[in-house]
Amino acid sequence: MPDVPFSCPCGEIKGTLHGATPTSGNHVRCYCSACRAAVLYTTGVDVEDRGVELYQTTPDKISFEQGQENLAVFSFSPKKLLRYRASCCGAPLFTMLPTPKFALAGVMTDLLADKTAIGPVAMEAFVPQPDGSSKHTSVVRLYGGTMWRALVARITGRWKQTPFFDIATGKPVAEIYVPTPEERARLPL
Ligand SMILES: [Zn+2]
Ligand SMILES: [Zn+2]
Repeated sequence: MPDVPFSCPCGEIKGTLHGATPTSGNHVRCYCSACRAAVLYTTGVDVEDRGVELYQTTPDKISFEQGQENLAVFSFSPKKLLRYRASCCGAPLFTMLPTPKFALAGVMTDLLADKTAIGPVAMEAFVPQPDGSSKHTSVVRLYGGTMWRALVARITGRWKQTPFFDIATGKPVAEIYVPTPEERARLPL
């Protein structure tokens, strides 16, 4: 199972994605407005209709060699996805559900030193349709694989192996910042 190094754009945060294969996680391109807004919020760049590429895995597959203290967390609302960013250079890094008990981590694939291990994008989420709705290209894989991996992690206790939460309190390793209404008003949500 290949181990792939990752780093934030400035290099302060470095780590490894373990067991990165096309079948042990989901390589997804997400077109949802929250992902688009998160990138715009953190980088000032609007991905517009390009979407955002993530590799969905479980948090125990991610380890840090340095710069873990530079993890910052924000969320557009308390019950929504936690979005981890780099406090050093601002870049978006990971998405996480608000509880460590549901072991799901999305890695922004631009951080990976080499994307070949995870294979090409296997599914697209929230793809805009001509009638204004959106759809997923592989619903079973998108949700089925993710739910299954999270369930196995829960049963085996692997969910506790996460660098993103303090397991004793169930809280993220950094305070959750909620963007102000003024900040939100500038984003396409
Ligand atoms: Zn999304
Ligand atoms: Zn950085």
